[in-house]
Amino acid sequence: MRRENTAAPLIPGRCTLPELKRAAAACRACPLWERGIQTVFGEGSLDSRLILVGEQPGDYEDRQGLPFVGPAGRVLDQALAQAGIDRSAAYVTNVVKHFKWVSQGRRRLHTKPNAREIGACMPWLDAEIELIRPRVLVALGSTAAQALFGKQVLVTRDHGRPLPSDRAPYAIATSHPSAILRTETDEQRQQAMEGLVEDLRIVADLVRKP
Ligand code: SF4
Repeated sequence: MRRENTAAPLIPGRCTLPELKRAAAACRACPLWERGIQTVFGEGSLDSRLILVGEQPGDYEDRQGLPFVGPAGRVLDQALAQAGIDRSAAYVTNVVKHFKWVSQGRRRLHTKPNAREIGACMPWLDAEIELIRPRVLVALGSTAAQALFGKQVLVTRDHGRPLPSDRAPYAIATSHPSAILRTETDEQRQQAMEGLVEDLRIVADLVRKP
């Protein structure tokens, strides 16, 4: 993708995290700015050793302007707590910063971002990663995993094991918390949650590693 068709020209040089966030608020590098209420930038401290990256904000996140604050965010909070990770010590963000949705009656239903939208938005994520320089980079779900680690990565096969990345010393893919919400039975839900927690325990070990 040509640089000028992405958010890259909008990234301020030598900026702080709040300055980066302010610049992203005005982004119109892809058509999604028209659909979402606002840019939902990442949240967390510059000192975070861990970055968690999801696909895109959902309905709640779009309304509140914060990542992972809806039902999937609550699942993530539970899984992090069970894995012994303090969410406030992590930086949480998404590959795509605007909510892509279609209407169904009064509901706004999530639609997967396409390659053009992901490519256009990646410079924001790369700028966040560059500023924070995390020890561990975690992709939640296949959109984030493939955007960060390549199309060859399959979360179902590659979750929970270190993946090569030049963005951080350790990189891991795991399932997106919303996948747990989509399970049909309590048993499937429990199993999916256990899988996510197991992967996040590996992440916790990597974060604590001296
Ligand atoms: S989704 Fe990303 S690239 Fe597209 S307008 Fe929003 S912030 Fe810009």
